[in-house]
Amino acid sequence: MTAKHRRETAYIEGMRPQDILIPAPAGLCCKPGGFHIDPVRPVERAVITHGHSDHARPGHGAVLATQETLDMMRLRYGDNFASTTQAVRYGEEIRLGDVTIKFHPAGHVLGSAQIAVTCKDTCIVASGDYKDAVDPTCTPFEVVPCDVFITEATFGLPVFRHGDAADEVKKLLASVALFPERAHLVGAYSLGKAQRVIALLRQESYDAPIYLHGAMEEITYYYQSRGITLGELRPVKGVKKADLAGTIALAPPSATSDIWTRRFPDPVTAFASGWMRVRARARQRGVELPLVISDHADWDGLTATIAATGAGEVWVTHGQEDALVHWCKSRGLAARPLDLVGYGDEEEHEVVAANEAEA
Ligand SMILES: [Zn+2]
Repeated sequence: MTAKHRRETAYIEGMRPQDILIPAPAGLCCKPGGFHIDPVRPVERAVITHGHSDHARPGHGAVLATQETLDMMRLRYGDNFASTTQAVRYGEEIRLGDVTIKFHPAGHVLGSAQIAVTCKDTCIVASGDYKDAVDPTCTPFEVVPCDVFITEATFGLPVFRHGDAADEVKKLLASVALFPERAHLVGAYSLGKAQRVIALLRQESYDAPIYLHGAMEEITYYYQSRGITLGELRPVKGVKKADLAGTIALAPPSATSDIWTRRFPDPVTAFASGWMRVRARARQRGVELPLVISDHADWDGLTATIAATGAGEVWVTHGQEDALVHWCKSRGLAARPLDLVGYGDEEEHEVVAANEAEA
């Protein structure tokens, strides 16, 4: 049965995709399953795609997520972040009300998952945040054939092409070699990006200790506890300024522009983000060394993934929806923006964390 045929059959049976999943104020709601996906307000039962704070919030009744996502929520919010929790493995099928759900790797950060929701013969995949690029710190993205694919659109414009992250890390190492008397301070999101940059540095045979801002110590050590090889890591705190010459340190993006940087000798400020493709953004932030490294799919990744799922219908959310909706329609796919609020740049959610961790 083709996806198109399945959709038509589902329609005849009275089960349209929007009867299975629908945008609600609390987030994407599955009425026949009795749960929300990545709810932004407290709900009875939440199914959570990954640990970033705009997707994983505290205060729900029951939370279903991968073990890693549950652990990350526990680290950030404490033991009582939900009434009950259930760890779900990739590939495991779970019955909830009238639907079954199945988690598949999203390749975004450690433990990140796409959620496939199947009701009768209709399968909808809520992919959360995802990327199809290689990342040594998490399970690779998996294409899940479906009738309706829900895609993010953080970098949903043709101008966004991320290139090879390894080349960006080589740029960083070239700068370290060029300025041995200066420290290199790399702004990176605490969850995912920082660990990926470290792993990429190790892949380029950089084996010196890498220094961490206090706000990223715990989550980075957690990655190590899950078997991700990151080499020798040291806290920045307590290290003499002179001893930081020639070193690489990672910090949340907000810390790289504040008083905290005074503890480094003449720091070169770098920032690892997909937004660094936009020169004006780098300039505006005072970034000397922009590194185009993203944990979100770029334009080519988004369009290739949509095509690969075989979905006849695409729902586009958080980001630059219009161009992607247009692209889908021009290829004969049904497509619409999904009006969900409360998701966005991880960076905005990091400011508080960084300020709390280390003055
Ligand atoms: Zn995310």
